[in-house]
Order: sequence, then structure tokens, then C-alpha cells
Amino acid sequence: MICTRCGSAEAHTEAEYTALAAKGGPTLPAGICFRCAWEDPALHKALSEWAERKKAETYRRVREFLVRPLEFIDRLVDGLR
Ligand SMILES: [Zn+2]
Repeated sequence: MICTRCGSAEAHTEAEYTALAAKGGPTLPAGICFRCAWEDPALHKALSEWAERKKAETYRRVREFLVRPLEFIDRLVDGLR
């Protein structure tokens, strides 16, 4: 469906936003795209907090990924001793 505010961007249905909220996302009204929600002062806070959480989650995953090769090298070095 197309956003009811800007009339150009792809918006999401109530079912999609309900599913997003169930996964810890912001509660957004149906028929509005992310860009319009971001620009809406009433919705911006919830969206930006969610974006911050997603960002923190991504950094945590990247760190976990980076830790594994280091553990591998540590074991390799231990094996050479
Ligand atoms: Zn829009």
C-alpha cells in the first residue's frame, strides 16, 4: 500500500506494524511510511529509540563475529607453543 501522507512511499499495513511491534519495534499507525513516521514529532521518539536499539544490536553482532577469529588465532598460537 502507498503512504496516506506523502502519497509516494511504500507504507505498511496494520498487520505488518503489529508484527514489528511484537518484535520490539515502534507502534506505528497503518498506512504511513517510515519516512513520514520519522518526520512526525509524535512518532519520531519511538522510531529513533528503536533505531538506536537496532544499531546497538548490529554492533554487538559485529563484535561477536570479530571475537571469533581472535579466539581462533589464540588457539593456533597456543598450539605452537
Ligand atoms: Zn509517507
